[in-house]
Amino acid sequence: MASEHIELPSDNSSLVKINAQSSIVVDQASMNQHITIDFLKLHQNIEAITNNVAPDTQLWPVIKDDAYGHGAIPIAKRLASQVHGFCVVRPSEGVILRESGIRQPILVFEPPNEHNIAVYKSHNLIASVSHITHLDLLEPGCSYHVNIDTGMKRLGASIEELPVLSQAIEKRKDIYGKGVYTHFYKADDPGSSTVAKQLDLFQKLQSQFPIEWLRHTANSGAIFHYAKQLPLSFDAVRPGVCLYGYSAGIQAIDSLSPLLSWQSRLIHHQPVKKGESVSYGARWRAPREGWVGVIPVGYAHGLPRLLSNQMQLSIEGILYEQVGSITMDFTLVWLGENKIPLGSPVFLLDSDQLRANMWAEKTQTIAHEITTRISPKVPRVYIG
Ligand SMILES: *Cc1c(COP(=O)(O)O)cnc(C)c1O
Repeated sequence: MASEHIELPSDNSSLVKINAQSSIVVDQASMNQHITIDFLKLHQNIEAITNNVAPDTQLWPVIKDDAYGHGAIPIAKRLASQVHGFCVVRPSEGVILRESGIRQPILVFEPPNEHNIAVYKSHNLIASVSHITHLDLLEPGCSYHVNIDTGMKRLGASIEELPVLSQAIEKRKDIYGKGVYTHFYKADDPGSSTVAKQLDLFQKLQSQFPIEWLRHTANSGAIFHYAKQLPLSFDAVRPGVCLYGYSAGIQAIDSLSPLLSWQSRLIHHQPVKKGESVSYGARWRAPREGWVGVIPVGYAHGLPRLLSNQMQLSIEGILYEQVGSITMDFTLVWLGENKIPLGSPVFLLDSDQLRANMWAEKTQTIAHEITTRISPKVPRVYIG
């Protein structure tokens, strides 16, 4: 789903809803919460990516799943002049981009099927082909890249299937092969031997395809952990999570800066006595007399409930502990003796001390999952 595209008026009095098709109502009266996406950081991250890959490597940013929750259309529009193509997972995502005016090539990762095959032609989308059945589906005039499996065992043609596929490709002169690619399964780990092995195999297999075809392998992990040692830049790279400012694995990458900050505000606060519990299940008790604040954000908006009692929030640059169970729509924060004024901005995520990678580590996932799960109900505001 495309995210809300809203503009924040300078007086903050109301939000203008631009995406009229959306059934999600943005709370126009109160700025209870929003996400800010900073395009200047996007450009810094692009620079960090190009600094890691071989000169003249094309960028094909991965903007699947609404650009990992950042909004595919605004991100694509902003990047259009600097990149050669875009990658999405579903053809429907490509359709939305085309209808918003994106002209760059769009590669679709999932295999085509009989229900969606028509849009590859009508909206000029590049199919990923890994089986002869995919080739058979493609209508004359369509373009495709061959996806080869070199070890991930998810999508991609197996080594056994490749000869059959190559023969079928020879026969289909009415469709256009434009590229060949593979995907690394352990590139987020800087010390894995699997990347070199997959690369070796890809080197062998890609040679059977025409020299003019585009070759590409690298995701974020490969770009930041391997591209300096291994010749995996080829013609193009497919940066995903790094584009949005997050490292692909546990190892932090200093040159990246998160685009996204998630902001809410204090809507309530109340005094608690020493030993009193707060929220469901009484999972936290006040260590002393003080104040507990409330923000109107909960797990229904994509804040992981597993972070209960495990995260911090920033108010005027100072970090406060989140306390008690995170609830569906509200989350509590321990203010100590600070009776912070109602309406004060409260940050859940920022590009500094509060990063999605930290949430990911605490909830045993990756930054990709954190940002893609932030609900489209949360308005996105674009700056820079
Ligand atoms: C998602 C994806 C990427 C980008 O991965 P990141 O880890 O986010 O950089 C690249 N290629 C393929 C095939 C993908 O599915």
